[in-house]
Amino acid sequence: MRWTQYFITTLREVPADADVISQKLMMRAGMIRKVAAGIYTYLPLGLRSIQKLEAIVRDEMNRAGSVELLMPAIQPAELWMESQRWQKYGKELLRIKDRHDRDFVFGPTHEEVITDTVRDAVNSYRQLPVNLYQIQMKFRDEVRPRFGLMRGREFIMKDAYSFHSSTESLDKTYEAMRDAYTRVFHRCALDHVPVEADTGNIGGSASHEFMVLAQSGEDAVVSCPNCRYGANLEKATSKFFDDEPEPFVSEELLAIDTPGTQSIDDVGKFLNKPTSELVKTLVFDTENGPVMVLVRGDREGNEIKIKNYLGVNMLEMLSDAKFEDATGGPVGYCGPVGTKCKRVLADNSLKGRGNWVVGGNKKDTHLGGANVGRNFPEPEWGDFTTVFVGDPCPRCGHQLEIHRGIEVGHIFKLGTKYSDAMHCEYLDEKGERQPMIMGCYGLGIGRTVASAIEQSHDADGIIWPMPIAPFEVVVTSLGRDEAVMTAATDVYDKLRNAGIDVLFDDRDERPGVKFKDADLIGFPLRVAVGAKSLANGQIEWSWRKDKAKQLGAPEDVIPQIVDLVLAARVSL
Ligand code: ATP
Ligand code: MG
Repeated sequence: MRWTQYFITTLREVPADADVISQKLMMRAGMIRKVAAGIYTYLPLGLRSIQKLEAIVRDEMNRAGSVELLMPAIQPAELWMESQRWQKYGKELLRIKDRHDRDFVFGPTHEEVITDTVRDAVNSYRQLPVNLYQIQMKFRDEVRPRFGLMRGREFIMKDAYSFHSSTESLDKTYEAMRDAYTRVFHRCALDHVPVEADTGNIGGSASHEFMVLAQSGEDAVVSCPNCRYGANLEKATSKFFDDEPEPFVSEELLAIDTPGTQSIDDVGKFLNKPTSELVKTLVFDTENGPVMVLVRGDREGNEIKIKNYLGVNMLEMLSDAKFEDATGGPVGYCGPVGTKCKRVLADNSLKGRGNWVVGGNKKDTHLGGANVGRNFPEPEWGDFTTVFVGDPCPRCGHQLEIHRGIEVGHIFKLGTKYSDAMHCEYLDEKGERQPMIMGCYGLGIGRTVASAIEQSHDADGIIWPMPIAPFEVVVTSLGRDEAVMTAATDVYDKLRNAGIDVLFDDRDERPGVKFKDADLIGFPLRVAVGAKSLANGQIEWSWRKDKAKQLGAPEDVIPQIVDLVLAARVSL
């Protein structure tokens, strides 16, 4: 491809409304153009990277036994009513009407359409398992579309769905998908970790998210550098509370005057005790009434863990207005002794420990020496707190790390949620109807490409991993004199003929402009042909990542470049 025939629109200025580096660089490099909030045109260069990633994803999905199809973006509302997501999905679901006033949605995901497809086509256990995928445009009316392709409203996703007659079969496909994802991110040279993810209220099934580690990531990822345990912050656990607690001698329950000490830190200072020796009382409002949660004073309650344990949809801090009525104590002085709260949960960090300092359910009063069983009933024990950096890994005990990550893929054992709701059934060996067991597997194409830039760039622009670079090599002619153009064209032709994906910057521009553009777009390799070195029978080449210039005769440099590209193409 020649630059002069191509469509490249680089910008010198940083776009004002871009907030992360990948978005700035993709806009400046002329890869994407914003059309409306969260809606982009993929310009030719951007489309190339997208299509290269798609090819890798197809390759790995096919290899893992998934079969490609393409479902419609526009889906009839009836299917969404069947799954009940018409009511439940909320404002992210773009609802539209056709000319007959019939309701449709622009698909944010395709469980309904695929389940409808498979229930029609599959009757017998003999036809299972089935694993189908597509690469397709989704629309989610995100509250805050931002970060360019990372959180768009219209975005490209690879989504796969599998159907099974047994959990063993689902487990096998799930593993194959997990492996395929690892291979995809590995091939894109992305520094990533698979982490255990929260499965929400659907229950017991497994879920993993694939996180690309980057400062700009919206998620916190807990990982163990020793055994590769990884989990979302909402899900991560640690061995922190596994130690046998020290035996203790019960002290007497004692009311302590603690005037003006509403926060746990105030209480700690006032009593001259570390917050780890105090009990923090959290009170939440849920659709089933208020719930009290006790955690160690120096730890944080984890709302997702609490919500999952309770199996509720709504969990909010109890408002001041409702507080006294629900607990029998004022805000800031609430505790388990004599509380009106019917449900009291306590974090495992407190189990087996006694003589707690807790709120006294009376203004300016705390209680010391409070003990389970004697002063208040046995609470419901569980893991209700968030892991901290340095906590021991739940598997191997090594110190845990916490990093920022970008969720690029998500695999999920769905179970029978959709097949029950939509009657997606098969006949088993005994001729009995059974709901199919499902899995679903999403991978954000645009988000993955953007995350590669987040991980690999410098002050001058993008540094593409070879497998998803828009072009592998740029050949730059310096000046337009005939000898230079002839030699540069020759290099370009030879590389092209060797199957290299090469762009020829044949523009009549100053070398400085050409180099700046090449650095910004981030072609992994550059070959420059100029009059000066050509006079010595040489051309110049360099890697984008270090820009160290090397000289050589074209007949040596060309095969060397070919070898380098081939070696870097599959960066496994
Ligand atoms: P998030 O928590 O980031 O909103 P999600 O849990 O809604 O993601 P899934 O429904 O699991 O995402 O979708 C599968 C994949 O699609 C995600 O892992 C991500 O890579 C991609 N994705 C989801 N939402 C967006 C978006 N708004 N823009 C770009 N990619 C997205
Ligand atoms: Mg989302």
